[in-house]
Amino acid sequence: MEKVYIETYGCQMNFADSEVIASILQGAGYGLTTEIEEANFILINTCAIRDNAEQRVRHRVRELRALQGRLHQLRIGVLGCMAERLQSRLMTEEENVSFVCGPDAYRRLPEMLAQVRKGQRAAEVELSTTETYDDIEPVRLAGNGISAYISIMRGCQNYCAYCVVPYTRGRERSRDPETIVREARNLFEQGYREVTLLGQNVNSYSWGVQDCTVGFPELMEQVAEIDPRLRVRFATSHPKDLSDELLEVMARHDNICRCIHLPVQSGSNKMLKLMNRKYTVEWYLDRVAAIRRHLPDCSITTDVIAGFSTETEEDHQSTLELFRKVRYDYAYMFMYSLREGTYAWKHLADDIPEEVKKRRLNEIIALQGEIALKNNSHEVGREYEVLVEGESHRSRQQLFGRNSQNKVLVFDRGNAVPGSYRKVKVTACTAATLIGELVDNK
Ligand code: SAM
Ligand code: SF4
Repeated sequence: MEKVYIETYGCQMNFADSEVIASILQGAGYGLTTEIEEANFILINTCAIRDNAEQRVRHRVRELRALQGRLHQLRIGVLGCMAERLQSRLMTEEENVSFVCGPDAYRRLPEMLAQVRKGQRAAEVELSTTETYDDIEPVRLAGNGISAYISIMRGCQNYCAYCVVPYTRGRERSRDPETIVREARNLFEQGYREVTLLGQNVNSYSWGVQDCTVGFPELMEQVAEIDPRLRVRFATSHPKDLSDELLEVMARHDNICRCIHLPVQSGSNKMLKLMNRKYTVEWYLDRVAAIRRHLPDCSITTDVIAGFSTETEEDHQSTLELFRKVRYDYAYMFMYSLREGTYAWKHLADDIPEEVKKRRLNEIIALQGEIALKNNSHEVGREYEVLVEGESHRSRQQLFGRNSQNKVLVFDRGNAVPGSYRKVKVTACTAATLIGELVDNK
């Protein structure tokens, strides 16, 4: 049996896609391996969001040449967003890559691998307006058997000026809700206790047959009602579409986790307009107020970009000011990276010097570090229900899990076991972690 080794980079969506890829290839008779030396094919599922993500993959592909020198039958394929963006150009630039396959072409992988086995090269990068892989039961790859991703939609057509996703993942399309609920129920019956529903903008999820349409709030409700012991998370919400209706559904279901990822990108209206985000700072703060009104214990996290085209010190100060106002529990913080093909690439200069971008990013990181530590210090003394996930990386005597707010809690293992819900009291903290003890350790 020929074996496939899958390596995944990038967002949660890519990790979910790798599980679909594994399922397609297993169905076609390939074995999956976690030992790279056993593999006949290495599939690298890639991200194109920033240049450094692509450079990392190129470096990895080059590093794999040595292994190919030893194992002559080993073939490498590049999948996902970078494959879509660069298409067969990637095989010219990286000569040890035998095939490239875009995010909507994974069903063609068995044929492509057969072609590659015959010594040919292959490229499949056509985007689809309908593909959702909804009939494919993903093979849970690096799973802990406790939490899993479920992709509920694909693509994006928001066309934020800086972003390559609409070009690498195609038009937005939603997946049949019946298949989503079935997948979540199956996971629960197999012992999973947490699912994360994934999409680039989950709030625009919409499935319609004649006059019966299912939007994201209804879908959330259906998944939450599978069982109160199944936690439900979702990512990502675009601020322009975060509705009160969704917040009301969340408030009605304790098992919908109290954590909303609400990428802001910038705290300056001028930048938001240039980025084509379709909301203002005032709108954003109104949505934050709505979250706090409906879900007072909800954590809020974000994404931000430092140094987008024409960003002034004043714009940057507005971003810091917004961070001080919202007091995020966590933030993914990036330096702007110009991407070929985007609106910004065609029309806006990448005019902020690298060292200015870096300095602004570092200022945001430093501020967010202070805020996260302060937020966490307020948690000391509180008790949370934690879904235990596994052993702590630091010590075998300790376990870790997450509370509904998605904060990581580490505690002495006592009689707790992974996959169970336990009450943990917070006794100390860092900016990234809460340290606690089991409340009921009998
Ligand atoms: N769809 C989600 C949204 O709109 O919030 C997130 C998509 S993207 C995979 C994740 C984050 O990458 C974005 O929120 C943005 O902060 C960042 N990002 C996207 N394009 C970027 C670029 N060209 N340079 C730097 N960061 C970028
Ligand atoms: Fe990119 Fe904007 Fe779509 Fe998010 S919403 S994936 S940032 S285009």
